[in-house]
Amino acid sequence: MAAEKQRFAPDLLALVSVGSIASFVTLLCVVAGRFPGARPLLTIVIIGLGAGGLILFRQLRKGANSLAAGEARAHYVATHDELTQLPNKALFVDRLRLAANSVSTLESVASFTLFQIALDRFEETVEVLGISASDQVVVEAASRLSSICRDTDTLARVRDDGFALLCADMTRGAAEAMASEMVQRLCTPYAAAAGQAVITCSIGIGFLAPELDQPIEAFRQAQLAVSDARKLGGARYSVFDPSMDQALKNRKALEVELRHALAENALTMKYQPQVNAKGVLVGVEALMRWNHEQRGVIAPSVFVPLSENCGLSESLGRLAIRQAFADAKHWAGLKVAINVSAAQVRSGGLVPTLLELLAETKSNPRNFELEITEGVLLADEAQTHETLNAVRGLGFSIALDDFGTGYSSLSYLRRFPVDKIKIDQSFVSHLGKRPESSAIIKAILDLAEALELKVIAEGVETKAQAERLIELGCGLHQGYFYSQPVAAEGIADLLAGRSKLAA
Ligand code: C2E
Ligand code: CA
Ligand code: CA
Repeated sequence: MAAEKQRFAPDLLALVSVGSIASFVTLLCVVAGRFPGARPLLTIVIIGLGAGGLILFRQLRKGANSLAAGEARAHYVATHDELTQLPNKALFVDRLRLAANSVSTLESVASFTLFQIALDRFEETVEVLGISASDQVVVEAASRLSSICRDTDTLARVRDDGFALLCADMTRGAAEAMASEMVQRLCTPYAAAAGQAVITCSIGIGFLAPELDQPIEAFRQAQLAVSDARKLGGARYSVFDPSMDQALKNRKALEVELRHALAENALTMKYQPQVNAKGVLVGVEALMRWNHEQRGVIAPSVFVPLSENCGLSESLGRLAIRQAFADAKHWAGLKVAINVSAAQVRSGGLVPTLLELLAETKSNPRNFELEITEGVLLADEAQTHETLNAVRGLGFSIALDDFGTGYSSLSYLRRFPVDKIKIDQSFVSHLGKRPESSAIIKAILDLAEALELKVIAEGVETKAQAERLIELGCGLHQGYFYSQPVAAEGIADLLAGRSKLAA
């Protein structure tokens, strides 16, 4: 409306101005009729005024037209993404609302399909390739998507790393086929100026149904399906299912409870013995437990990742370190391994926390080993190098957990200050069942010997596994064959000879 008014104003101004000139010319004509002697002069004035009026009219019209063009441009800019020229989120939501209205009037079920298309780990791509090359990737991705869209579909760029697509009249089968085609196209490598980029994408599918009065709800549901696709490893699509909503609600509830648990000291540490080839207790691994009032004991594999999603990993890590430092005071001669998450290492807060807790508990760092996973080393960031060197400089040793399951790259072992590797339990459990397990364990032991690293095997459950490991040359063991993780008092009992290891 405001725009129409603006366009109308110069038109009106032109008409009024030309009208005034015309009236003046009429007046001059009347004067010329009365005073014939002045006619030649008046004729020149009248012609001049007529021409001037015409020029003024033209100028004002031109002004009105360029204002209208500017306004159309402003509207386009406000509703389109500058980089890809696709509709932006505002326009997409507008179209979604229109679609929702037609769904509720027609009462046709799921006549619109909504796709959320997210480029996986796009931030990393920007960091590696730089902004201009990653922009090229986005433009190329937009063009690959556009090439499979129909004229009636709305494809929009709704986030830096994501698109949304709204399609009318599409069966579920056709929607899945479309999503699969999109995954395949988007996952094909990109030729960017800075080098080849390999990017995967996760797609979520939602349907606009009459009962969804809020079209934004369909948007959210498709987004939940994206998270599901990502959880399954990315490079795939997922169709929204109400159970995803329930899972999210449960997770949110658990997050709140974890916050309370931290405040109320409901998190405790258990310690699992580590033994040498003679079966003598030489160390323990600190493993956290959450004793939940209703749900019982919750495993760290559930609440550690949860803590990372809700900003609690720092507090959780701090609690584990403080507790392990305090408990270890009573265990002379035992090395205590503490698990440290990637988030803790990257946050930059690990070293100050260690220093503070060493001082508070008056502990000796040489009695402790920090266990990290290869994921920590993967990004190869300056911060990681700095933190690990500082930790080692304080006197802590570092063990690489779950070795053999990730990249197991020799170069990590050479570049990072690692003292020990822990052979993952999957290799140990396959000993005697799969011939390659022995070969892999032997190869890890040879590698460790060449790099002068210690090796421990975890997940040792049987006598046969323990014996085979010793035959292969691996003398440090941890697992249920010796002991389950036990409370701190259980370790004190073992040290005092009040109890014995199972093996
Ligand atoms: P992890 O560091 O690989 O720990 C070994 C897991 O294997 C432990 O599970 C342990 O109870 C289990 N285990 C020990 N012996 C055996 C065996 O003989 N057979 C089998 N099948 N399993 C065995 P848990 O305690 O559930 O811990 C799971 C993971 O949670 C740990 O894996 C570790 O990554 C993480 N975690 C535990 N405590 C902490 C913590 O304080 N901080 C951080 N960041 N992560 C922790
Ligand atoms: Ca561990
Ligand atoms: Ca492990």
